[in-house]
Amino acid sequence: MNTEQTPKASDVLIVGAGPTGLALALFLTRMGVRVRIIDKTAEPGTTSRALVLHARTLEFYDQLGLADGCVEGGTKFNAVNLWVNGRHAARAPFDDLGDPFSRFSFILVYPQDKQERMLVAALEKLGVTVERRTELVSFEQLDAGVSAQIKTADGATESCRAAYIAGCDGAHSKVREQLRTGLPGGDYAELFYGADIEGKGAALNGEVHIAIDDADFLAVFAMKESGTARLIGALRRDPAKTAELQWSDVNTRVIDHLKLDVAKVNWFSTYRVHHRVAGSFRQGSAFLLGDAAHLHSPVGGQGMNTGIGDAVNLAWKLAAVIQNRIDPAVLDTYQSERIAFAQRLVATTDRAFAFVTARGPIAKRVRLTVAPLVIPLIFHFRAIRRFLFRTISQIGIRYPDSWLSAGHAGAVRGGDRLPWAQWVDGGATRRDNYEFFSSLDWQLHCYGEPSDAVRATCASRGLTLHAFAWRPEMNQAGLHRNAIYLVRPDEYVGFADAGGDAGALVRYLDQHHIATLHAYVDHRLPLE
Ligand SMILES: Cc1cc2nc3c(=O)[nH]c(=O)nc-3n(C[C@H](O)[C@H](O)[C@H](O)COP(=O)(O)OP(=O)(O)OC[C@H]3O[C@@H](n4cnc5c(N)ncnc54)[C@H](O)[C@@H]3O)c2cc1C
Repeated sequence: MNTEQTPKASDVLIVGAGPTGLALALFLTRMGVRVRIIDKTAEPGTTSRALVLHARTLEFYDQLGLADGCVEGGTKFNAVNLWVNGRHAARAPFDDLGDPFSRFSFILVYPQDKQERMLVAALEKLGVTVERRTELVSFEQLDAGVSAQIKTADGATESCRAAYIAGCDGAHSKVREQLRTGLPGGDYAELFYGADIEGKGAALNGEVHIAIDDADFLAVFAMKESGTARLIGALRRDPAKTAELQWSDVNTRVIDHLKLDVAKVNWFSTYRVHHRVAGSFRQGSAFLLGDAAHLHSPVGGQGMNTGIGDAVNLAWKLAAVIQNRIDPAVLDTYQSERIAFAQRLVATTDRAFAFVTARGPIAKRVRLTVAPLVIPLIFHFRAIRRFLFRTISQIGIRYPDSWLSAGHAGAVRGGDRLPWAQWVDGGATRRDNYEFFSSLDWQLHCYGEPSDAVRATCASRGLTLHAFAWRPEMNQAGLHRNAIYLVRPDEYVGFADAGGDAGALVRYLDQHHIATLHAYVDHRLPLE
């Protein structure tokens, strides 16, 4: 059946309701943008796939009030262990890193299927339902916006208009195909496998264990229910074998080396892994996010977290442009900020993956002889563990070269994530400077005493000012007394000024034509 229907208009058409599309829909809806989110599948994914939520993603979820639920329902890891040829070579604890970086200074196992259900439920609470069995067939860019052809659940073809289209449609993205951005990079010969097992052994002690031997590698993540774990490893396909690979095809030597006794396998799946980044993330009114934009090995559990980071980065920029609250040039910063990170990430995970899987006598020698000597030494240094945690947790992502980044104060430059600082106030209550980001709006922070001119600028611009009485903990976090930090809705510093200069703040706001969501809601439209 091919029934043309009256075009439906929305601000943003989101194609794909994986974690990336769902996060984008949630942030946009919370900011008052009308979204339409479609997915060709009948229901959310029922297998866990990606497993870990990193600190930076939890900070984003915290803005939506979802982080505490994840922490309660997940399993926290405070240390990663390395085993080489059955010998425990190193342990890197993350719970002794000194001043914490984040309210979430740990790695959290919270499987993707649980997360997708949580995001769908949160979206439904806001009155948005994912349109299931609804597939993007094609789209074209118009002078203003896009027109998309969509196949709906009843088999009809519908024409749909939107100001923007967001391709969150995964590795085989139709949006990317139509944009012809290409997806340069390569593929790995190895297949990955994931297995949810029941069993026992020292590796199920609530920490992450990574084991390598001369041929294989294995990562073990204990799950919430005691005696259960997710195993992730690589296997080589025998070219002569055409049947689907099974658990019995896994070389169990590295598992035996860990003295892991697998009693039952509840889920087993293999998947091909690539290292590729799309040629561009934006063309006109169309954007690529998540797996549609970049693919990499699961080493470090970065894939899903990066997609959610893309979604948050784009959401506030799209909302501000749609609501005429910022210079539309901001949309170019989505690509410049996120493609640079994706390219670095693909290169790093590629090197890590090559290290754990490389064959040949030299690679074997490095992995089995040199690494067990060098890695414990490296992990011994707290500064190195801090660096590793900042990197893996995505807390270290920064955008110093962005059009949006200006100024510096203390150790903080425009484009840095606002350093997290925590202290105990006079009433013995624990406070921190991330308390107010659920507003999803620009805000000005002053650690100390803001000038009258700064107060007056904030009042006249509808910019919320958070003035925190100066504490030594702020100095330790790298913040500067009496400086001003203009913080973006995604918790990155746009502009910083050590002297707390109101004139420089006004110039930054005017240069980028920034108006706040708060002022927009108060003066233009109710968001409900
Ligand atoms: C078996 C398996 C194990 C994995 N393990 C890990 C891991 O351990 N760690 C890790 O980081 N990553 C892992 N991944 C990758 C991780 O799952 C992805 O990075 C993550 O799902 C990306 O989210 P996304 O929302 O960008 O894309 P996806 O989750 O792929 O979602 C895309 C959505 O778009 C929909 N869609 C596609 N085309 C259309 C269309 N034309 N119209 C409408 N809808 C469409 C799809 O139905 C899908 O729901 C694994 C993947 C698999 C398959």
